[in-house]
Amino acid sequence: MPNPVKRHSKTRRNQRRANDFLKSPSLSLCPQCNEPKLPHRICPTCETYKGREYRKAEKNAWHYKE
Ligand SMILES: [Zn+2]
Repeated sequence: MPNPVKRHSKTRRNQRRANDFLKSPSLSLCPQCNEPKLPHRICPTCETYKGREYRKAEKNAWHYKE
């Protein structure tokens, strides 16, 4: 049976466990095109939010998340 040869440090143990509690991002459906999108974000498919359109000119805006 394989056994650990050396004890791992606390750092290594914590680094291994760092990903154990990740949650997948919650998704909401776009009211415009019914595609899944992040809540409170512009829809990546139809580029609308709250009925307004946000085209490429505003892709660098602070609220735009790819
Ligand atoms: Zn959409």
